[in-house]
Order: sequence, then C-alpha cells, then structure tokens
Amino acid sequence: MRPAGAPSPAVERAAAAEVNGRRVNEAIERGARGTGTAIFVCECGNLGCNETVEMAISEYEAVRSGFERFLIVPGHEIGKIEDVVEQHDSYLVVAKRDDEAVKMAYATDERDDG
Ligand SMILES: [Zn+2]
Repeated sequence: MRPAGAPSPAVERAAAAEVNGRRVNEAIERGARGTGTAIFVCECGNLGCNETVEMAISEYEAVRSGFERFLIVPGHEIGKIEDVVEQHDSYLVVAKRDDEAVKMAYATDERDDG
C-alpha cells in the first residue's frame, strides 16, 4: 500500500535538484514518524534518478544534522560539487561545496523542530 502523502514519481521527476529530494524526504519523514524506518529518495539531483534507500528515521535525522548535507545512494556523488562525509552500507552522506546549493538549502529548510 502506498503511504499517505507520498509524491508520485512524475512529481519527483518534474522538479529539479537536491532540494526537491529533500522536500520529498521531509514529507516521508513526517509521514513515517514513530514507525522506525521509512523509504527515502536519493537526493543526488539527477532528474533521472529514482533510487530509494530504506533507513531508520533516526538515521535520516542524522543525515539532516547540517543544511549542506544530503542523502544519496552510493555512486551518485558528484565529486566536483560535493564531498562524501559519511559512508554507510546502503547510502552516503555528501556535503555540498557549491555556495548556491547551500544557500538554496537554507532558504527552503522550513523545519522548526531542529
Ligand atoms: Zn541519485
């Protein structure tokens, strides 16, 4: 059964870049609150990417401990604009070096519980 509030794949493809993946994942995180684990989407920003990662809510919270940090599946990192800061079995955490991406992430982070 599709979780309530999950975006359609078409919506995911239509929107651009990592910030969209982050918004999708924030919605997933909210919807999954208290259930332990959830399926998150790769935040690599590749429009053709529809990879997902199953992880604990607490693990995703750890990824989101910094505005510049993004969740991606292994192999989707882009060395020119980001550094891999954490390596896990099923996912990586990257930190953006690009100032615009960081600014955009700040501007769109509307969470008030962090
Ligand atoms: Zn990806």
